[in-house]
Parts: sequence; C-alpha cells; structure tokens
Amino acid sequence: MMNEIYDVIIIGGGPAGISAGLYAGRAGLNTLIIEKQYLGGQAVTTFEIVNYPGINEIDGPSLVDNMRKQAESFGVKFEYTEIEYVNFEDKIKIINTQKGQFSAKSVIIATGANPRKVGFKGEDEFYGRGVSYCATCDGGFYRDLDVFIVGGGYAAAEESLYLARLARKVTIFVRKPKFSCPKPMADKVLSNEKIEVKFNCEVSEIGGENQPTYLEYFNNVTNEKFRYDLSSGDRAFGLFVLAGFIPTTDLFKGAVELDEYNYIKTDENMKTNVEGVYAAGDLRSKLLRQIVTAVSDGAIAATSCEKYIEENN
Ligand SMILES: Cc1cc2nc3c(=O)[nH]c(=O)nc-3n(C[C@H](O)[C@H](O)[C@H](O)COP(=O)(O)OP(=O)(O)OC[C@H]3O[C@@H](n4cnc5c(N)ncnc54)[C@H](O)[C@@H]3O)c2cc1C
Repeated sequence: MMNEIYDVIIIGGGPAGISAGLYAGRAGLNTLIIEKQYLGGQAVTTFEIVNYPGINEIDGPSLVDNMRKQAESFGVKFEYTEIEYVNFEDKIKIINTQKGQFSAKSVIIATGANPRKVGFKGEDEFYGRGVSYCATCDGGFYRDLDVFIVGGGYAAAEESLYLARLARKVTIFVRKPKFSCPKPMADKVLSNEKIEVKFNCEVSEIGGENQPTYLEYFNNVTNEKFRYDLSSGDRAFGLFVLAGFIPTTDLFKGAVELDEYNYIKTDENMKTNVEGVYAAGDLRSKLLRQIVTAVSDGAIAATSCEKYIEENN
C-alpha cells in the first residue's frame, strides 16, 4: 500500500538488508525491503562460500534464498523497483520510486558496494574462475599455487601478506613507481620473501579456455611486454584485482553524510548523521567487507531502528 507508513524501509536487498529485515520483522516492526534488481546483491554472484560460520560450504543463491525465507517468515515485505529520489528531512521519510512513493518512520540504507574493475582483456570472462576481487573469499583456492595481484594501495598490500601465507608465490603489479599505502605497510610487503613487486606494470590480458592458463603484462614506462604461463603440474593460478570498491551511494549524496570516498559515515550503532536514518553493510566505511560483517551491521541497524521508533512514538 502506497499510503501506508512503514516502521522501517530498508533500501537494498543484499545480506545486510535482508538481515536488517529479519531482525526488524522479528521485533514486530512493519518492514519493507526495496530492491532494485534481485535479492542477495554481491553474495548471489559467488558460487562457493566457505567462510560463513556454521555452514561448511554453500553457494550464494542458496544462502540468500534461506535468508529471504527467514525474513518472510517474520512478515517482511519486498518491493522490486528503482528509486528516483529520497527525502529524509522530515520525521516521516519519503522514498520516491518508479512504482510510486513509500513512507516510513525510519530507513536503513543497505545498497552495498562493488569492487572496482581495471579493464584488462579477459577480466569479465574469467571473473569467478581465475579472476577474483576478494582475497579473503577466494585466497584458499590457491594454496601452494602462483597468485597475482593488481593494485598498489593499502588493500593490495595488506592482502598480499595474507595471500603469501597460502600461495607458493605472490606477484603484485603496481601501476605507479611506488605503493600508495603508508611506508611501514609497503616495507612489510617488500621484505616478504614470497612476494615480488613489479612497479610500473599493468596487466593487459588474462586468457585460456575454461580457466586462465596465461597472463600478459607490460611495463608502462619502457613498454616492454611480458607473459606468464601456468606452471606445468599446477591446476590453476589466481589473479586478484584489489583496486578498491565503489560504494553505491550516489542516491544519498546530500541526504546523509558521506566520507571522502563516498562511503556512508555511521556510529557503531549504524546511525547516520540524520535522525531515524541508518546504514548497514558494504557501503559503510569499514575494515572488512564480507557477508558476516554485512549481516551483523543489518542486525544492529534494525535494533537501533526499533529503539528509535520506541523513543519517538
Ligand atoms: C565475487 C564475490 C565473491 C564474494 N565471496 C564472498 C565470500 O565467499 N564470503 C563472504 O563473506 N563475502 C564474500 N563476498 C563479499 C560479500 O558478498 C559482500 O560483503 C556482501 O554481499 C555485502 O552485503 P551488502 O548487503 O552490504 O551489499 P550487496 O551485497 O552489495 O547488496 C546491496 C544490494 O542493494 C541493491 N541496491 C543497490 N542500489 C539500490 C537502490 N538504489 N535501490 C534498491 N536497491 C539497491 C543491490 O541490487 C544489491 O542487491 C564476495 C563478493 C564478491 C563480489
């Protein structure tokens, strides 16, 4: 119902949004999740999740389907539509969509973030079967194998140390002549015996059949070209693109406070700078972007909403 005032509207149906819905619904709040595409967000794009506590191994779509059923069992409603604009200025928050206007006493923004792509040939084709954007998620698949990283910032440097504990060798391609992360972190990487750093180098192509068997890169100063071929006896190699994330927050510019990288600023209770508006999941400024942290944010945001509604009505 368009003229209904919901207790909570959650924008985004990824793990953070569904978890927020589940907690809000269970607390007896009249809850709506608005999703623009399909439920599950980034989590449905992965077919092997092995780091969600209590579940040894599950594919993303199955995990998300379980989450949806659980949320529905607590009375959560879902709408699938594009949002045109939001207005959080008054006590009743307004969300204008292609299906009309929705109103709520409180809002949880959970529109996620997406890994930044760098654009080499084969990046899309081998995504999920050789090319990965998440070392924590996929590093374990390359135990004792060769691993490559694209990126020269903090994430690339830090994750190279993590991958070096698993892989046989880690090679990092840094587009610039030095790392852009703080020197102590860069020094740690440079002194690690299992890590080789190739400055001024960029990947131009990754190729093969079912999974990649070669990788080509070049020096952007000398224009020299190089090629790596899968070592005989190895079942695979991994290429991790760790060039940052792009938060999905354009819609909320001017409505809530963002940090310098366009992530939404919250306190530890997921509260934004606007009364009654909370944010949860990958679009928050935070250290670890995983399903387990997204669902945790969602649970906290819903509990904060519950308290806010109780105190304000
Ligand atoms: C390839 C890949 C593999 C991964 N593997 C793992 C893993 O093995 N283990 C793990 O823990 N984590 C993994 N992750 C990370 C994990 O998927 C994310 O941390 C998690 O999905 C973040 O949840 P979220 O709800 O914050 O955001 P998202 O999952 O990004 O969901 C956001 C949702 O909001 C919707 N949305 C966006 N804008 C709007 C709008 N304007 N209106 C309405 N809806 C909107 C999107 O369509 C999406 O459904 C992986 C990520 C990727 C990309």
